[in-house]
Amino acid sequence: MPSMFIRVDADSSVHSNAELAKKLTEICPVDIFAQNPDGTLRIVEDNLDECVLCDLCVEACPPGAIKVVKLYEG
Ligand code: SF4
Repeated sequence: MPSMFIRVDADSSVHSNAELAKKLTEICPVDIFAQNPDGTLRIVEDNLDECVLCDLCVEACPPGAIKVVKLYEG
């Protein structure tokens, strides 16, 4: 069974938007998003393998601003 990994691509308008960063931090059930001290978005690389592909982050952002990219290994 190949393991699945994902990558989250958030564009710069999301990274620099403290309000969206806060929303993403609250919405992701597995804490893939966090906020830097200045309010900008930080993607928590260590938690990426916990992603449940719920798409809540995608729905919370303007269309196309965030992408959950499925990567496969094996
Ligand atoms: S798809 Fe769900 S679990 Fe994965 S990063 Fe987005 S909100 Fe988090």
